[in-house]
Amino acid sequence: TKYVYRFGGGANDGGAGDKFLLGGKGANLDGMASIGLPVPPGFTISTEMCTRYYQDGEVFPDSLKAEVAEGLRHIEAITGKNFGDAADPLLVSVRSGARVSMPGMMDTVLNLGLNDATVEGLAQVSGDERFAWDSYRRFVQMYSDVVLGLDHDAFEEALEIMKEDNGFFSDTEMEAKHWKALVAEYMALVQDQWGKPFPQDVHDQLWGAVAAVFGSWQSERAKVYRRLNDIPAEWGTAVNVQAMVFGNMGDTSATGVAFTRNPSTGENLYYGEFLINAQGEDVVAGIRTPQYLTRQAREEANAKPQSMEEAMSETYAELARVFDILEKHYRDMQDIEFTVERGKLWMLQTRSGKRTAKAALRIAVDMANEGLITEEEAIARVDPMALDQLLHPSLDPAAVRDVLTKGLPASPGAASGLIVFDADTAERRNEMGDSVILVRIETSPEDIHGMHAARGILTARGGMTSHAAVVARGMGRPCVSGAGSLSIDNKERVLRIGKRELREGDTITIDGTTGEVMMGSVPTVQPELVGDFGVLMGWADKVRRLKVRTNAETPEDCRVARDFGAEGIGLCRTEHMFFEASRITNVRQMILAEDEAGRRAALEKLLPEQRADFHSIFEVMAGLPVTIRLLDPPLHEFLPHSESEFAEVAQAAGVGVEVLKRRANELHEFNPMLGHRGCRLGVTYPEIYEMQARAIFEAACDVAAESGAAPIPEVMIPLVATRRELELMKKVVDVAAEMVFAEKGRRIEYLVGTMIELPRAALMADEIAEVGEFFSFGTNDLTQTTLGVSRDDAGRFLTQYVDKGIFARDPFVSLDIEGVGQLIEIAVQKGRKTRPDIKLGICGEHGGDPASIAFCETTGLDYVSASPYRVPIARLAAAQAAL
Ligand code: ADP
Ligand code: MG
Ligand code: MG
Repeated sequence: TKYVYRFGGGANDGGAGDKFLLGGKGANLDGMASIGLPVPPGFTISTEMCTRYYQDGEVFPDSLKAEVAEGLRHIEAITGKNFGDAADPLLVSVRSGARVSMPGMMDTVLNLGLNDATVEGLAQVSGDERFAWDSYRRFVQMYSDVVLGLDHDAFEEALEIMKEDNGFFSDTEMEAKHWKALVAEYMALVQDQWGKPFPQDVHDQLWGAVAAVFGSWQSERAKVYRRLNDIPAEWGTAVNVQAMVFGNMGDTSATGVAFTRNPSTGENLYYGEFLINAQGEDVVAGIRTPQYLTRQAREEANAKPQSMEEAMSETYAELARVFDILEKHYRDMQDIEFTVERGKLWMLQTRSGKRTAKAALRIAVDMANEGLITEEEAIARVDPMALDQLLHPSLDPAAVRDVLTKGLPASPGAASGLIVFDADTAERRNEMGDSVILVRIETSPEDIHGMHAARGILTARGGMTSHAAVVARGMGRPCVSGAGSLSIDNKERVLRIGKRELREGDTITIDGTTGEVMMGSVPTVQPELVGDFGVLMGWADKVRRLKVRTNAETPEDCRVARDFGAEGIGLCRTEHMFFEASRITNVRQMILAEDEAGRRAALEKLLPEQRADFHSIFEVMAGLPVTIRLLDPPLHEFLPHSESEFAEVAQAAGVGVEVLKRRANELHEFNPMLGHRGCRLGVTYPEIYEMQARAIFEAACDVAAESGAAPIPEVMIPLVATRRELELMKKVVDVAAEMVFAEKGRRIEYLVGTMIELPRAALMADEIAEVGEFFSFGTNDLTQTTLGVSRDDAGRFLTQYVDKGIFARDPFVSLDIEGVGQLIEIAVQKGRKTRPDIKLGICGEHGGDPASIAFCETTGLDYVSASPYRVPIARLAAAQAAL
């Protein structure tokens, strides 16, 4: 096997620039060189070598030596310099690069090939002694740190002392003799810490660095990052060895980083920073304050030091030309690293730039409008889940803020809530209806349920790629991480920020977009769904086949969902309406009644209330289909708890408290999830469904009469397992409908169908479709009943199941396509056999998950239904699935 691929100087062994083989960095160096851009020549040792290196027990095959020698000769031929030549040495950088850019990998080593002899040659040929010794000290420090693993601080300290002793403030004041003296100190440090002298043989230096890059693939840091980001260990990293170019050769030299468009707003303006007479990562390392790339940016920031556009206008023009070439070539916004050596521009890296959701949207829309990509590509470019960031409220710019502290803007959006210090409390308080902010020193996988339950997450430790940050972004929760001035006392349950003390239950607001943490609850504003967002959604709507509905049961939610583009309601859960404080007593009276007459008396009181509920929903959804699920949960969920609650019900029903308590006891169930619920309630107490059906049709007729636009009710019977169940329940609904139509003197179009949420129902779908006019896949229960896993208890083991690879993802979040999906396919096929035009949809949590939506597209469902804030995500995901 060939492991070494040359680039530059007309040799492009990597061909099209294969990322899997060459890593991202290597592939794009190869790509840039192949389109004639100025790239210093070099070679890439492939990712396959990394894999083999570990298979063989961390040794290199002999063949590699010859290939690397060949690679070096390639660089030597083009540069006219020889590696290790004391008169005019070739220097190289050694750079790691996996398929995706990955923190945790070895840092780049620059100026490799310098030693006590070659440094003199470099000084000679460059005519710049200071530059040569500056390069040498950089090399020794970097090599000692990243390859030899010596204590980095000792080197920094030596430099600081040297500056202090000379009364210097900045590195730029150091002269050749100072750098030379520093190198001598570094050499002593190496001898002291490593026990051996610094490697003087340039080939030892090179192989040491190459082994260190491959070694870093299995570093703890890299492993953690891979685990959090689902990156397989088999991918491996590549090593890039490349001729050095020097940004530190005086005032006509520079180094910089740039984006071809603004990565936070998406604006089509070059965006970047550079530093004159500097090398490598000086710009990002913050050694000196970098200067702006463009004059406009400098002027906007009111900064003094000249921009690159002003200071090096010719090179800047060349760079701008390269930006355009790169965008046209890669057809995406690029993140670029470059160096200017004595006025000559060199390209050192390009990749598709990371961007905020807002920028992703704007860039996709702009590029399609510019004709650089198609509308379809624009649709495919935006991650539906990233839209989540845009759909969340942001802080009202006009609101007064009492800022407590600032951390890292780890996951966008703003959230207010009560402080809680642990995940269990977060979950408990959330169930009680409180909004909470989970405050932790740092988070770990055990906190996931609490992070989910929280409106936002705040941590004292951890960076932008900490566990909290990565998970919060994945969940779409706002997160501020690494707020270092927080001191959290978990025992006392207090949070201290400077002199201020906050306790559990106090309200704070976090802004994950800016990193600010504020006292109290700061008002938020709803996102604007116009502009680029509206344009992209419009394109998505043109290509998608699946309809998108929403799961909603209040007029407010319905309105939000319609604004987000919902085309109907896929699931309206009627029991939520029963829980309302004003009606719960009547509901309880109904449940605890001894006989039908007692129940009817209570239902009589509930009817106008339900009718009003449906009326207000139908008004919002006029003209659109509304799927209403008749009462589903086990009755005992509505039971009174306290003495006073029992007393209230007793009074309403006109019976004794003792009678009620006995009835309540009788309703106890061992396994309510599989107990007296769903259509079983309707079978035993048909009067409940009769009342609900009546409420639906009365409201529908009224809205039709008032507005002229009738809703299309789709009455859904839950938890059906057999044809006969559905037949009985449909009869109840049809009879109620006919009675209402006769009373109101008008007919309304409606359907009666069922949830498919039991495996038997899926298997018997052909029979069930003889009665049911539509199926809605209730994938929450279908997942529970197919896997035999209770969603409410799964938290204790599901994380491990995912860690151990038993499930690729939480099956309650992303549909188990192989198992549950198969049942859906069977039901679709059998249902259509009986009733070719049967309406099919999905109303579980999965209806808002892009992977599950893709499955719904393949299976040919008619619609998906998602929670209101997920509707745009579903629209985009449905479009992507249809491409
Ligand atoms: P990272 O993956 O951390 O971005 P790089 O391999 O891109 O690391 O190296 C970091 C920086 O080092 C580059 O941006 C560039 O400024 C500098 N660098 C790398 N290789 C060379 C080279 N051959 N000549 C000059 N500078 C280089
Ligand atoms: Mg780096
Ligand atoms: Mg880089």
